[in-house]
Amino acid sequence: MLSEPDAVARLCTACGLCCSGVLFADVELEPHDNIPLLQQLGLPLKQLKSKTKLPQPCAALDGCLCRNYTQRPSRCRTFECLQLLKVKNGETAPESALTNIRKARQLAERAEHFLDQLGHNHLKLSLSQRYRRCIRAAEGGGWTSEQLETLAELQMIVHQLTALLQREFYP
Ligand code: SF4
Ligand code: SF4
Repeated sequence: MLSEPDAVARLCTACGLCCSGVLFADVELEPHDNIPLLQQLGLPLKQLKSKTKLPQPCAALDGCLCRNYTQRPSRCRTFECLQLLKVKNGETAPESALTNIRKARQLAERAEHFLDQLGHNHLKLSLSQRYRRCIRAAEGGGWTSEQLETLAELQMIVHQLTALLQREFYP
């Protein structure tokens, strides 16, 4: 069992999946979040009907670390993925959680690589948004057999990544 700061120090500093657009497409802000301050810090917020959202990949993410850690939104403060929860509770060893994190990061990197190859290199969009755009483009037809082979590899990787995230990360 690890204390919360120790678990965060071991796992989150090697991960960043809940900020990089792999686990989520955005962070919804709470009414008590300081929106003017977040804007001053250079975070590009989006207004969707009555909701204010911080899109991911987050502009504050620097490697695996948050540049605005002390000023981060409340949902960022309270979110704990399953791996973090299990390490905190002593149900999983940190090494085993780090193995899952490495696997998920590797799969996400491979998915990004295939998306880049297919021309879907919009780095400001989350992985799922890029993938959906890519699938829509493929459905439009006219793709070469080489592109379709790359698409098949991408679909297999996204399937593996989604299964891993569902099983090991979403709380
Ligand atoms: S996904 Fe989990 S381990 Fe990774 S940074 Fe977020 S809370 Fe930490
Ligand atoms: S503000 Fe910090 S903790 Fe929140 S999503 Fe961005 S990088 Fe992650």
